[in-house]
Parts: sequence; structure tokens; C-alpha cells
Amino acid sequence: MTTDYKKIRENLQNIHKRIELAATSCGREPATVILLAVSKTKPASDIRAAFDAGQIRFGENYVQEALDKMEHLRDLPIEWHYIGGIQSNKTRQIAHAFAWAHGVASLKHARRLSEQRPEEMPPLNLCLQVNISGESSKQGVSPEEVPALARDIASLPNIQLRGLMCLPEPTDDRQQQQRAFARVRTLFDELNRDGHRLDTLSMGMSGDLEAAIEEGSTMVRIGTAIFGART
Ligand SMILES: *Cc1c(COP(=O)(O)O)cnc(C)c1O
Repeated sequence: MTTDYKKIRENLQNIHKRIELAATSCGREPATVILLAVSKTKPASDIRAAFDAGQIRFGENYVQEALDKMEHLRDLPIEWHYIGGIQSNKTRQIAHAFAWAHGVASLKHARRLSEQRPEEMPPLNLCLQVNISGESSKQGVSPEEVPALARDIASLPNIQLRGLMCLPEPTDDRQQQQRAFARVRTLFDELNRDGHRLDTLSMGMSGDLEAAIEEGSTMVRIGTAIFGART
């Protein structure tokens, strides 16, 4: 499909309006919510269109696909976020190519990312993925495991633990959305009370960003509402 520059620009404007409304209606400053544009399966030209409309942070789920697009977009100062599940045989590429990794769910992977992060690069920013829905199919650590894992990860040299990420079961039920996000928010507050300095709650997607922002999200990951449905 060819890139519809006008559509992508309009969609971005609409998302910024949704973020602004959601933030102000619960007394938050809209600027405290960062927009991550999720461009998985979409062509590099769509990313360029969004960048031209002012978007600088992009999230990708598949390492090889992301590397191919990065090659095409070398001329742009994009901040790349890896938001997919981490596999041991991909950590080197993630550590070399991305500024952030959101789907970290084990000390083993965090260690590899730290060891493989090139010394001349700034620390890799990490979010721990929390599994709040309790499904075995979804990646992420259980809430009970979070404090110990956060403590171990925080001591690794070439990464910076920034916060928590979640990917709750999709639902149209606002109460249910809210409950899931609130649990992650509580964990986040507990970690900071224990001495961590976390600043990132990576939660909220196209269908539930309002609930996520009301529960304290500082980074929403939006794909469909910017680039259209994925095929
Ligand atoms: C695909 C994806 C998103 C974006 O979802 P949309 O519903 O298209 O906004 C966000 N986070 C993760 C981890 C994803 O895989």
C-alpha cells in the first residue's frame, strides 16, 4: 500500500487530542504522556510520513523488520523502541540498534542486553513487562516476581531500568481496563518507594489509552490509530 501522508498526519493530530483530553480530564499535564508510534508491519515510508508530521519515537516488534527499516531511515534522528518479546538469539541486535526495550521479562535477558550493549552507546533503557492478566500465553513476569527482578536488573551496568510495561488482555470494558492498569501503577509506586527511580509506565494502546492515562501511564504505544489496521 502507498503511504497516505495526509491521513497519517490527521491521525497523529487526533491521537494528540485524545491524549490531551484524557490527561486534562484527570488533572494531568498532557506533556507528561509520551507518544510512541507503533509501526510494526508498516513500511518505512509510513514512518517517514509520521516523522515529517513531528513524531520521533517509534516502536517495533520484530527485530529483522526493524533493522531493515532503520537502514532506510538512517537520515532521520528517530528514537527506536523495541516492544516485542525478547529472545536470547536477538538480544545482541536489540542491544546494538535500539534506545529502549520494553518487553524484558527475565534477568537472563537483561544480563545479555547489558553485556552486549556497546560501550560507546548510552545505557539501554528498559521496562519490565508485567503479566497482570495471568495468562500463560502472554509474556511478562508475575507481579510477585517484580521487586526481586527489578533489584537485580537495576544493578546491571549498561542498562537503565526506567519502569514497567504491560499488555493487558484487550477488552472494551473500561472498568476492567482500569483495574489492570491500576495494578501496574501500584507496583510502580511500590518500587519507587523502595528506592528505585522509575519514570516510565508504558501502558495504553489504540483502544485503551484513556484508561491507561487515567491510571498514570507516561508512555502510550499507539499503532492502529496512527497507521491504520494491520493486515
Ligand atoms: C502492536 C502493539 C501495540 C499497538 O497496538 P494498537 O492496538 O495497534 O495501537 C502496542 N504495544 C505492543 C506491545 C504491541 O505489540
